[in-house]
Amino acid sequence: MGTKSREVIWGGRIMGAEIRAQGARQRAQEASREADQAEAEAWSVRMEGYGGPAQPSPTIDQCLNGGLGWLEVECSRCKTRASLPLDAIRRPRETPIWKLEASLKCRSCRNGRWAPPVRMIKLTQTQRITPYKWVHPTEER
Ligand SMILES: [Zn+2]
Repeated sequence: MGTKSREVIWGGRIMGAEIRAQGARQRAQEASREADQAEAEAWSVRMEGYGGPAQPSPTIDQCLNGGLGWLEVECSRCKTRASLPLDAIRRPRETPIWKLEASLKCRSCRNGRWAPPVRMIKLTQTQRITPYKWVHPTEER
């Protein structure tokens, strides 16, 4: 067997294996995205439909990976709603989103250090409401 045919045979097998590996990786990625999306959606439906419980919740990373990158929240006092982009929240990506609730504050109701509690409504794929009235979780600490 000459060098050339060896290359063809082994090279072809290697390429085949690499393609299979790539395909499997891609499927695993899609499966993980699907799982994250399903989990984020389940949480979102529970929040919107039953008002909670917020725990346990998916992580920021899971929501982003699942394509639900916006968290809709409501001020318990003035009922103002806002959509917050999860990818802009400077918290570790493995933070469960229920942990964000305590640090969210409505700008118009905030009074010094005090602010009325904020309720998480649901997760969405796109921005629904302008978030400008809201204090970013990392703005004040
Ligand atoms: Zn408010």
